[in-house]
Amino acid sequence: MSVASVIVDVAAKQTDRAFDYAIPDKWKGIIVPGMRVVVPFGPRKVQGFVVALKEEAEVKRVKPIADLLDLTPVLTPELLEIGHWLTEKTLCFMISAFQVMLPAAMKAKYDKELSLLSKEAYEQLHEQVKPFFQSRSSLKWSEVEKTAAAPAFHRDIQKGLIEVVYVVKNKGNKKTAKGVKLNQSLEDIQQFMNELNKQAEKQKQVLSFMLERNEEVAIKEIAEDLQITSAPIKALINKGLLEETEIEIYRDPYQDRYFTPSKPFQLTDEQAEAIAPILQDIEENLHDVFLMYGVTGSGKTEVYLQSIDQVLKKGKEAIMLVPEISLTPQMVKRFKERFGSKVAVLHSGLSTGEKYDEWRKIQRKEVSVVVGARSAVFAPFENLGLLIIDEEHETSYKQEENPRYHAKDVAIYRGQHHQCPVILGSATPTLESFARAQKGVYKLLTLKQRMNKSSMPSVDIVDMREELRSGNRSMFSTMLFEKMKDRLEKGEQIVLFLNKRGHSSFVMCRDCGYVPTCEHCEISLTYHRYQNKLKCHYCGHEEHVYTECPECHSEHIRFFGSGTQKVEEELTKVLPEARVVRMDVDTTSRKGAHEKLLNKFGSGEAQILLGTQMIAKGLDFPNVTLVGVLTADTMLNLPDFRASEKTFQLLTQVSGRAGRHKLPGEVVIQTYTPEHYSIQLASQHDYEAFYKQEMEIRKMHKYPPFFYLALVTVSHENIAKVVSVTDKISQYLGQKLSPQTTILGPVASPIAKIKDRYRYQCMLKYKLEPSLIPLLKYILERYQAEMQKENLTITIDLNPYSMM
Ligand code: ADP
Ligand code: ZN
Ligand code: ZN
Repeated sequence: MSVASVIVDVAAKQTDRAFDYAIPDKWKGIIVPGMRVVVPFGPRKVQGFVVALKEEAEVKRVKPIADLLDLTPVLTPELLEIGHWLTEKTLCFMISAFQVMLPAAMKAKYDKELSLLSKEAYEQLHEQVKPFFQSRSSLKWSEVEKTAAAPAFHRDIQKGLIEVVYVVKNKGNKKTAKGVKLNQSLEDIQQFMNELNKQAEKQKQVLSFMLERNEEVAIKEIAEDLQITSAPIKALINKGLLEETEIEIYRDPYQDRYFTPSKPFQLTDEQAEAIAPILQDIEENLHDVFLMYGVTGSGKTEVYLQSIDQVLKKGKEAIMLVPEISLTPQMVKRFKERFGSKVAVLHSGLSTGEKYDEWRKIQRKEVSVVVGARSAVFAPFENLGLLIIDEEHETSYKQEENPRYHAKDVAIYRGQHHQCPVILGSATPTLESFARAQKGVYKLLTLKQRMNKSSMPSVDIVDMREELRSGNRSMFSTMLFEKMKDRLEKGEQIVLFLNKRGHSSFVMCRDCGYVPTCEHCEISLTYHRYQNKLKCHYCGHEEHVYTECPECHSEHIRFFGSGTQKVEEELTKVLPEARVVRMDVDTTSRKGAHEKLLNKFGSGEAQILLGTQMIAKGLDFPNVTLVGVLTADTMLNLPDFRASEKTFQLLTQVSGRAGRHKLPGEVVIQTYTPEHYSIQLASQHDYEAFYKQEMEIRKMHKYPPFFYLALVTVSHENIAKVVSVTDKISQYLGQKLSPQTTILGPVASPIAKIKDRYRYQCMLKYKLEPSLIPLLKYILERYQAEMQKENLTITIDLNPYSMM
């Protein structure tokens, strides 16, 4: 084969196809699909992926490939195929599909090194190669590249005597670096940015950058990314908008840890019943999707572990996805204890180099189990026997940037390819999955009993309107306060949970709990401070701000939200004897902080753990006997049709933190809307009743799982442009799509402006729309020139999870 089809690293519509390049003689027989190459493209050289080989090119004269980056393909034939499928599924460019499947290091700068696999290998080396390894076991590829020995090296690499290693440059050799983080609330920063004058453009850029990242970032990285000096960053530190920090550079977190090997448990009858059909699929190479529906502590993880064990015994491989947030040391420990060095762990806490190392272990078949967050679903295994998605309801499985894929879809696709089972596990499955299980599309496996036979904790709902009426203006209801005091006296522990504040604020009556919602969309209206108006972020419906509650005529109707820091302050006032650990984005942004704080609580050094979403799952502390949810309403009122579902999931999960062991647990949920079904039913631990009720609402308002959604978002600096483009798109779709499809919008997106760019959207609700993908592709083509030249952005999210 003398020609290679290459997808080049230029993400644009007109380059979104394979280009032909000649394979120089020295690489004939060496280059295969799935390898990365460097090719001339116009005046420059770019990286590309070989997708196919052929005898002849389609055009007359083709340029030769300039360099070969891999000597083993980084994308397997299966992954190449998944790449094609992703472009159809998510409307992304081919190159983005390929890049998302690989660790970041493959994109980063690197040195290519050659190393001798073993001492024995030396004797078998080609005569031309031997001298290079006479006194050392590794050398840089650049030393060899230009010499006459290069072809001989290729042969020895093919023979498996030498391997090629990418050494990531400038990553991970420093222990600390100077960094910064935001030092003020988002609103204050937004306000400050609006007031900055033209000369301070650079400072504005820095703030936008920081808002987007929303974490500690090294000063050097900001300066490099934005191509600025550090002066504007220093200016912002002086103004108090940014705070200077030290960023720790992470090393292999499991390096010097010893894991005591664990043995499988004798399964309970329920577990045995659940695992039987999975084992049968594994035995007979069958593909099914199982929905394992079981309360926390019902032994799901043990079933996963034993299923994986069976897969390994058959000489196959397994992928287990867990949400980033629950990829806790406790979870990793369970896997390492059971499968030892056969496990690779992939999560965002690893440095680029470490991630690459873990990935390489998979590629070289040194491990057969991967535990990881979303992108681990692309692990380059070639003999998969099982894929598991734990906490399948978690929205973090959906990538919120291109390619906007859902790990569940990829897992099921791979399961079909390999003819192996896929397990989705959850105590609170998504309505989509549970509905599929009801229809028999998925096979339902149920675990009803908790392992320790302990009953679910008892849940009390406290009506915060009553508290206010009886004169209690504190964040803690009398009941929660009394129970906290009681636990402190007994030396037991408490978890306090506060929902993270959403991007937008809603309005609530503090006397009756009334929250204004859109009459057309059944989601809370969002308060816009500048216009002093309430708006629906789906359909654009507007209302004036209330001065009086329409339900109870109280004047205490205002917007809502309180932070963890405020709660901590109040705790030290009312319970000065308590030692508190606070966990939120601020206290855990430093690498390793998460684990340190948890250890502090686990060791009993602190009695109260106060935190946001991140403490909701995965934690297992025997001494916790009380869980308090400070405001159940914050999430309930996000402008998202999944708000009730998310609230139910979260409350259920939080409650699962109490009474996991011998001591009985209690939960107190504080709310202004105690009658809401998602709060009521979560307190009764009644998922099935919640499912029934929520399904009716979804059906009535044409939401998933009854209808599919597609979200088109347009953004540009010029608001008139944004409105007109969105309007044209909506009209065009309106003409072409079937009358059964609803088109909502054009309307401003919930976050109406990001980085000085206005954002508008239209949302489609459809059931059957075979021409949708071609139509959307046509729209992207139609606006291609404007997107490239005028900085217009159109993003299309098929099956969106984030409504912001
Ligand atoms: P889940 O994943 O549903 O939360 P786990 O698998 O973590 O449940 O099980 C809860 C606890 O029960 C864990 O501590 C686990 O080690 C233990 N466990 C699980 N299965 C068994 C079993 N068959 N016998 C004894 N203990 C078990
Ligand atoms: Zn009211
Ligand atoms: Zn509306």
